[in-house]
Amino acid sequence: MTAGSFRASVERMFNRAAALVDLPPGLEEKIRVCNSTYTVRFGVRLRGAIHTFVGYRSVHSEHMEPVKGGIRYALSVNQDEVEALAALMTYKCALVEVPFGGSKGGLCIDPREWDVDELERITRRFTYELSRRSLISPSQNVPAPDMGTGEREMAWMADAYKRLHPEDINAKACVTGKPRAGGGIAGRVEATGRGLQYALREFFRHPEALKRAGLSGDLSGKRIVVQGLGNVGFHVAHFLQTEDDCEIVTVIERDGAVSAKGGLDIAALREHIRETGGVRGFPGAEFRENGLEALEDECDVLIPAAIESVIHADNAGRIRAKLILEAANGPITAEANALLRDRGTVVIPDLYANAGGVTVSYFEWVKNLSQIRMGRLEKRHEEARNHLLVKELQRLSADAGFEWTLSDNFKSAYLRGADEIELVRSGLDDTMREAYTQMQTVWFEDDRVDDLRTAAYVVAVRRIAKVYESLGL
Ligand code: GLU
Repeated sequence: MTAGSFRASVERMFNRAAALVDLPPGLEEKIRVCNSTYTVRFGVRLRGAIHTFVGYRSVHSEHMEPVKGGIRYALSVNQDEVEALAALMTYKCALVEVPFGGSKGGLCIDPREWDVDELERITRRFTYELSRRSLISPSQNVPAPDMGTGEREMAWMADAYKRLHPEDINAKACVTGKPRAGGGIAGRVEATGRGLQYALREFFRHPEALKRAGLSGDLSGKRIVVQGLGNVGFHVAHFLQTEDDCEIVTVIERDGAVSAKGGLDIAALREHIRETGGVRGFPGAEFRENGLEALEDECDVLIPAAIESVIHADNAGRIRAKLILEAANGPITAEANALLRDRGTVVIPDLYANAGGVTVSYFEWVKNLSQIRMGRLEKRHEEARNHLLVKELQRLSADAGFEWTLSDNFKSAYLRGADEIELVRSGLDDTMREAYTQMQTVWFEDDRVDDLRTAAYVVAVRRIAKVYESLGL
């Protein structure tokens, strides 16, 4: 893929759907275009010399504020890419009803080239540059982790912001994806993977949708190929393997692909990658040097969880997966998408599938603004009421002359009030089910809509248009 094409690809997908939505003149373009992209070049003195870094923060749409989206650390970061990713954030937030506009940032850096202290200085300096232009702010622009960043970077950013704005009581809400001790929320690290699992489970609850993909039954025993065992790929693969009995038959990483009939042990494979830097040599697995070829393997579900544009016009015709769950942002180009659609491959699109991250980010932001852990007020009260009910039922049964006791399993599950992690999972599951229903209704009921991606965009564009109309634009 040449530079410049990722954004064009997202725009093509958007255009296809927007043409099906009745919009007032000019609104389609207003929604499509990226509002602004700030480029910063800053110097940091490291290893005895000044190093210049290039960073971006792109704001796609401010129809809702704050705007939201991750910050990526990778050498390949460029303006076209952050603009495409910012646009995807706008549509993603609208689809899952998270009240944010879309934004994205990036720093052209290979994080592995720098040690922790150096990365901290670079991150703090980048935060300062963003803060000067309100491109990090609890009320205007809230970054989050993305490729190459995680809890650690978010903690540095939150601290740098707090130092610049000591009077802001909401300072913690300037970024999400922070560690728990620094104001984060339970379940944010695995949120995107969890959301992908919930998305797939929801798809499997709909026999008609399954039929369109040529699949049937439940998730148990389904053969899955995963590309990328980073935070997102690892969690979705691990959850599907350990909780839904799926077989992760192949994992594609930078150095190649490993496969095993019956499935790979994902937790052990991740450990192997940590120790050796790659998948090669993983015991009991077959290794292929040309990992990308494995995208074309016959399987039930393909989960691209690495980077954009890995399925393109040249390999789309050879993809044999029945269903593709887009864990990465933009792994399928617009051209490839059309080819796959023609061949009947069903795609669960990125703007829906990987929305778990930003959904739990939203919960974290709300938690920070409310200054209280979720469930803290209600938990014991809920438990007391459950106890009351159980006691009363037991009294009634004794009065009626029959003796029944509740099983210990039931009691421990029912009597306990919800912790933050349970509330987060419940909110995320509900979000994924609700958004799927909206999407599927459009997919099944509007004859002009021939895939889930177009349906997802239609739902998102309608919502954004309503906001613009209510704003009087
Ligand atoms: N970087 C993630 C994404 O692409 C999360 C964004 C967020 O939490 O704001 O959706």
